Amino acid sequence: MTEAFVALGANLGDRLAALRGAVAALDALPETAVVASSAVYETAALVRPGAAPQPDHLNAVVGLQTRLDPPALLRALRAIERAAGREPAAERWAPRPLDLDLLLWGDDEIAGPDLTVPHPALDARRFVLVPLADVAADRVVPGLGRSVADLLDDCPDTSRVERTSARLWP
Ligand code: AMP
Repeated sequence: MTEAFVALGANLGDRLAALRGAVAALDALPETAVVASSAVYETAALVRPGAAPQPDHLNAVVGLQTRLDPPALLRALRAIERAAGREPAAERWAPRPLDLDLLLWGDDEIAGPDLTVPHPALDARRFVLVPLADVAADRVVPGLGRSVADLLDDCPDTSRVERTSARLWP
């Protein structure tokens, strides 16, 4: 079994329903169980410089125990996104009904054409680090050699991340 952490985000449609549906879909994957969930946060959308503002996101992070391998889990994340109405070739900065990113895969570092783990933007974004710290504050991030809590303390990102009272799981 490997412990993996997945970031969830949505900024279109019923955002909370999209996140809850994604958690249920992750838990329903073969040989996979959701074992931890952060709080749900409302966060300011990143937009391309000069572009029109976008609706706020809801973001969260869940911890999984899984026997899938990383490519299989990544394919499953893409399938869950598509089932939530995500356009396969959506533009990088476009609003999305659901975005799933693999943040951490045990203590492994993975550098492949389709998958980089730890996720390359993990230490740059408060909307990732704040929920990740709910479920893995003391975990040392492979390759960076620092804990999630330390990375959050030093994160230069100042964008808005507000904890909501919504529950994601169970
Ligand atoms: P995005 O639409 O921004 O979520 O990017 C999705 C693409 O990034 C996918 O086609 C993946 O192959 C690639 N990718 C690379 N590393 C990761 C990762 N750690 N988690 C999710 N997607 C990844």
